[in-house]
Amino acid sequence: MNFRSTRGKEKGVKSVEAIVRGIAKDGGLFVPDSFPRVYEEIINKKGASYEDIAYLVISKFFTDIKIRELKGAIKDAYTDRFKVEVVENFLELYHGPTCAFKDAALLFLPQIMKRAKNIIGANEEIVILTATSGDTGKAALEGFKDVEGFKVVVYYPKDGVSEIQRKQMITQEGDNVHVIAIEGNFDNAQTGVKNIFGDEELKKELLEKGFRLSSANSINIGRLIPQIVYYFYGYIKLIENGKVKEGDKINVVVPTGNFGNILAAYYGKKMGLPIDKLICASNENKVLTDFFNTGIYDKRRELILTESPSMDILLSSNLERLLYEISNRDSEEINKLMDSLNTNGVYEISESMKENLSDFYGDFATTGEVYKAINEVYVKKNYLIDTHTGVAYVVHKKYVEKTGDNKEVLIASTASPFKFPRSICNSLGFEVDFMDDFKVLNTLFEESKNEIPESLSNLEKKKVIHTKTSKIEDMKKSLKEYLGVE
Ligand SMILES: *Cc1c(COP(=O)(O)O)cnc(C)c1O
Repeated sequence: MNFRSTRGKEKGVKSVEAIVRGIAKDGGLFVPDSFPRVYEEIINKKGASYEDIAYLVISKFFTDIKIRELKGAIKDAYTDRFKVEVVENFLELYHGPTCAFKDAALLFLPQIMKRAKNIIGANEEIVILTATSGDTGKAALEGFKDVEGFKVVVYYPKDGVSEIQRKQMITQEGDNVHVIAIEGNFDNAQTGVKNIFGDEELKKELLEKGFRLSSANSINIGRLIPQIVYYFYGYIKLIENGKVKEGDKINVVVPTGNFGNILAAYYGKKMGLPIDKLICASNENKVLTDFFNTGIYDKRRELILTESPSMDILLSSNLERLLYEISNRDSEEINKLMDSLNTNGVYEISESMKENLSDFYGDFATTGEVYKAINEVYVKKNYLIDTHTGVAYVVHKKYVEKTGDNKEVLIASTASPFKFPRSICNSLGFEVDFMDDFKVLNTLFEESKNEIPESLSNLEKKKVIHTKTSKIEDMKKSLKEYLGVE
């Protein structure tokens, strides 16, 4: 299996190259040459564990990595660290160290990158730089901590993350991790990181000292491929639970931001998973809803801060990979669309591309609707869902009402409700005004009698390790200081 760029200038790239480089030279995203069918193999392997299915899926793509290495990467990523559970129709993807689904990808990426780097024979130490609005930073820290040959530096906006998210990051253990609070907002932190990546002189200087900068962002193919796995796993569980029979089509609903998670489900469909509709659920930042309804992607609008913050995104980077498929892999067309997006903030796809969008359905949910849904699910099923999952639940309900299509469904449940306890308590009418986040966490536990995940329950008492702060203009300096490069 080789990889190619969506923008057409690179073809025949080995998986190890694509993983280590992250993005193609022409600015495009790496995609596999094809999507091998894997459904029958998985179905026929009775009693397959999550790791077995992970191997069957991932080995179809990363063919230049030895079987033993690949199995090692899967084991080191997931054993005793991550699991998926299916409760009724909810695909719970948050049983990992950070209590959100990004763990599935960010526990695997470092393991595969480490092995890919050895295969290529890259000797430099890779420094992963991330600006975070909360979730990705922590997931990257957990994934890369103590992985040989890597360092992780995370910048977070000092007053721009929740108390729980801050505490998760500043208590992070590991000999190769560094967390810095930025005196500014998320945009400032992100721009700062972009400036570092764009500073050729700095990069050269670091390379001379043996450091290569890289990012763990969601366009890396090593992050995307492992996300296909849990859709197959979820389908098998629906069969085991008697909800569907082998071969029955299901719908999948995904609360979407950067379009990574739902794209993985689409890739799964291409590999034979019996999915009918892929239902793309947005919050009030409904760029994707509008795109699926009109064929026009228009990011010229204000970003709205919602209570599903991990979906507060106007530029869904992974959508480029879908455009590539629905244009029948027409790189020229992709270049045109991306140029238009960069210069005008908008593009419209052709009629023939629109016709290829029939796998998808897009809609959105408001905060009010999400609050009502969280309440409804709790009252009716005695089951807690978080705000992101709430968006998916609302959109699925709207879809069924509108179309009458009530096929069995997998609703991607992307975060533990305990990660956003204040929103959940507010939805359920538990009084939490004037309480700090940890009190709110405890209130949710006491009122709902649901266990707090261990990584959150012991957080308040954990020792603070990272206390560095940096002005926006000193981000480069703080990086060099940490790396000991003066
Ligand atoms: C990142 C995230 C999403 C959005 O996933 P994408 O792959 O960016 O579409 C949804 N929910 C939660 C909790 C997340 O952290």
